[in-house]
Amino acid sequence: MRWQIAALHSDHASHEQTFMRILIIGAGIAGLAAALPLARKGHEVRVLERADGLHEVGAGLQLGPNAMRVLGQLGVADSVAAAGQCPQAITLRDGRSAREILKIPLGDTALRRWGARYVAVHRADLVTILHAALEAAQPGALVTGCAVEQIDADGAAVVTAEGQTLTADLVIGADGIHSRVREHLFGKDSARFTGHVAWRALIAVTKDDPAAPPAGVGAWLGPRRHAVTYRVRPGLVNFVGVTEQSDWREEGWNLPGDPDRLRAEFAGWDAITRLLARVEAPLRWALHDRKPMRAWHRGRAVLIGDACHPMLPFLAQGAAMGIEDGATLAELLPMAPGDAEVETALTRFFALRQPRTARVQAHARANGVDFHAGNPLATLAMRLPLGRAAAARPDAVMARWDWLYGGGPVPPA
Ligand SMILES: Cc1cc2nc3c(=O)[nH]c(=O)nc-3n(C[C@H](O)[C@H](O)[C@H](O)COP(=O)(O)OP(=O)(O)OC[C@H]3O[C@@H](n4cnc5c(N)ncnc54)[C@H](O)[C@@H]3O)c2cc1C
Repeated sequence: MRWQIAALHSDHASHEQTFMRILIIGAGIAGLAAALPLARKGHEVRVLERADGLHEVGAGLQLGPNAMRVLGQLGVADSVAAAGQCPQAITLRDGRSAREILKIPLGDTALRRWGARYVAVHRADLVTILHAALEAAQPGALVTGCAVEQIDADGAAVVTAEGQTLTADLVIGADGIHSRVREHLFGKDSARFTGHVAWRALIAVTKDDPAAPPAGVGAWLGPRRHAVTYRVRPGLVNFVGVTEQSDWREEGWNLPGDPDRLRAEFAGWDAITRLLARVEAPLRWALHDRKPMRAWHRGRAVLIGDACHPMLPFLAQGAAMGIEDGATLAELLPMAPGDAEVETALTRFFALRQPRTARVQAHARANGVDFHAGNPLATLAMRLPLGRAAAARPDAVMARWDWLYGGGPVPPA
């Protein structure tokens, strides 16, 4: 059964209006992270999601301290940490020999240095927590089974697949990498296939299971491929394996994969082969990205999350950037919908967020090159203190990520 869309107040904004009517397209992490603080501030929010419900979509997410700090400000960090796992370290290893290359301490060390925890969580758990908080702030704000087909940027009106026109003071496009809102605002511009394919699977393990990978976040590196393992719930391991291929001719970018082909891709990587023996139905994701955009808003419509800055997952920051975007936008928007004030806020939003997200995009792309180099150990050694040198100077290793994990939304002056 489809939800009824309770229309937003349809009169044009009056000068006395002290809140905005905001339509958010997409109930992914970015859309919900924007909706929650906007609803709490008293804006009237509708989140339009094309899926029929918030299903168990996606797999694991690592949330760096930058994202967890924002979730703390939204009052949901403890629930997210309780639903997920707090890894004690990220360990980079050679895929074939399992030799340790680098260990980045997390746990209390991350908490002390960056002021928040590093958490790994199932995407569905994060979505459920954000949605429950939104529902408490503004019941009925989420409308599922509602695909948006058209956007009129200047008038902030959208037309749904069922032909209903909804108007608002602001439209936020949080509709992901293949964003319909972006296309309407800035024209068609297909995302670029990067030559990387991500295999994803969730695998149940028991305590002391010989197939279970070591605790914490494990990154396993080798020529033209790498894998990442971590627990998202007790007894549930998230596996991502990234391989290369020259092009992607298949329909769709998220398809069922052949488990035997996955095992063949990582043959000889003994530390993870027993885990992969359990994989029955992996998914294959064609990884796309785009160059940083020169603008994120037009008229009364603005983009956030993957809709404006999709990135390779090699820094584990796509969702984190969407969370930062949502909270920053909510902080900057005025309470009343005056043209000049909204334009100023959207311009400021871009100026604050675009340089940081472009830096993260570039860093993620560079990690892809380093991780897949013919000799990843030698490549990483040019950039980082490794092995014993790293163990002796953990501060030097951690300092490299201060800009990322210690940075993030800046409160408006
Ligand atoms: C293999 C892999 C591993 C990753 N690991 C991490 C990680 O560890 N940490 C991290 O931070 N990030 C990670 N990411 C990135 C992260 O998943 C994305 O950056 C993030 O989910 C993007 O969130 P979003 O809300 O912008 O978009 P999405 O999650 O794509 O959400 C968009 C929503 O909009 C809806 N929608 C789309 N079109 C319409 C329409 N026309 N009308 C209505 N609704 C619509 C969709 O159904 C969807 O619900 C990973 C990505 C991949 C592929």
